[in-house]
Amino acid sequence: MTVYLVGAGPGDPGLITVRGAELLARAEVVVFDRLASPALVALAPPEAERIDVGKGAGHAVLTQDEINDVLVDRGRSGRAVVRLKGGDPFVFGRGGEEAEALAAAGIDFEVVPGVTSAIGAPAYAGIPVTHRGLSTHVTIVTGHEDPAKGRTDVDWEALAAAGGTLVILMGAGHLGDIVTRLIAGGLPADTPAAAVTWGTTPAHASVRSTLGKIAECGVEAPAAIVVGEVAALNLSWFENRPLFGRRVVVTRAREQASELRTQLQGLGATVLEIPAIAVRPVAFDVPPLEAFAWVVFTSANGVNAFFDAGLAASGRDARALSGLNVAAIGPGTATALAERGIRADLVPPRFVAESLVDAFPPAGPPAGERVLVARAAVARDVLPEGLTAKGYDVEVLTVYETVAAEVDPAMIEAVRAGEVDAVTFTSSSTVTNFLEALGTLPDPSVRIVAIGPVTAETARAHGLTVTAVAEEHTIAGLVATLIAALKPA
Ligand code: SAH
Repeated sequence: MTVYLVGAGPGDPGLITVRGAELLARAEVVVFDRLASPALVALAPPEAERIDVGKGAGHAVLTQDEINDVLVDRGRSGRAVVRLKGGDPFVFGRGGEEAEALAAAGIDFEVVPGVTSAIGAPAYAGIPVTHRGLSTHVTIVTGHEDPAKGRTDVDWEALAAAGGTLVILMGAGHLGDIVTRLIAGGLPADTPAAAVTWGTTPAHASVRSTLGKIAECGVEAPAAIVVGEVAALNLSWFENRPLFGRRVVVTRAREQASELRTQLQGLGATVLEIPAIAVRPVAFDVPPLEAFAWVVFTSANGVNAFFDAGLAASGRDARALSGLNVAAIGPGTATALAERGIRADLVPPRFVAESLVDAFPPAGPPAGERVLVARAAVARDVLPEGLTAKGYDVEVLTVYETVAAEVDPAMIEAVRAGEVDAVTFTSSSTVTNFLEALGTLPDPSVRIVAIGPVTAETARAHGLTVTAVAEEHTIAGLVATLIAALKPA
């Protein structure tokens, strides 16, 4: 079989190539180190062997020779091996040495290039490494060697004379000496310089300075250090996103969390998924629907359970609803219906039970029109009571229940300690179950944002201080409210 030397890109898991992701998805062995994103290692099948050769600065867990041996050994075993390497495998990645070892052992290998941090990290900091009129060439150089030792392979004075853009990798530790030699080589001390640490990751940070001052900026590894006129360009975008650097907790059931998570991540947030509830099916029979004038759905979960566990189980499908009026409490529920081929006849202006009751036409004639309300086991009685008061004959059908989900204790600890910026709640049951899992209130610094007034009220009843309530009771409304709540004063 083949050993694939795959570039993982600088950190943002989205920067892996299509080819790299495909190979990971069918890998039987994955060999990775500390610069590899866990999200990428997770692309490998669960049964794949995972080998962490964890090369931390100065305290290598495995030596390069040992890593080469692992690759040769696993390559010989006939399995598909992915060697995941930070950035590009052949840019200071020792990928060349690994390829040499494989070639010497007669094992097939392929190389999948990646986005190198030398270009990717500055790009995320808004620094183009070449720019018309400012820089016609870029030099990528290692700062790993100790320039003070006198005998090094890097001719810093020549690099100073060459001009253009200099990108120094592995240079954080020797920055002071590197600067001294570049200045001695004739590069003015006021030449723009920038450092990008943990570029493209949630911990991404950048600092802009000058060659003379950059060594005093406290630059830590891993950093890409840029020297040259382009370092003064500020085309910052990654760090400008409204939720950049924010840690936000999503408490929705895992099956439902993806839309909120995707929106938050797109805005720069780091999302901690702590699903407080899990959706559990219950046994129920859908009554003959001809007898009803309306069917009401109060959540997307309810729609899915009604169709899958209800109608489908008795050999029926969406046609069973023909001739009936269908109401949805909000757009998420309406979308779930649309996915089943049903266009909701009624969606109230505000996505709460009270508004749905108001929006309902008066019952009949004939008097006592029947309404079927498909919903979760535990729910408020606003809807059945309100519709009954309007003259309807209401039947409640329990189609699923929510139960407390198991939560990751490490994440719970982060919330207790105030290591997150905000917790979002999308229903009363997420509030109660989340607080039960937490066992205490979160640190007061943690902002609490609720999707609507009912959820907010439940949160207050449990002693939480609610920072903000979404005006529009949708995921988009929640996200907009969160952005406002986290805006620096
Ligand atoms: N093959 C890698 C480089 C490996 S050498 C590549 O092409 O990117 C390790 C050095 O890369 C680090 O010391 C640091 O200088 C740089 N580096 C790796 N990831 C980085 C990141 N996310 N942000 C900034 N620099 C990074």
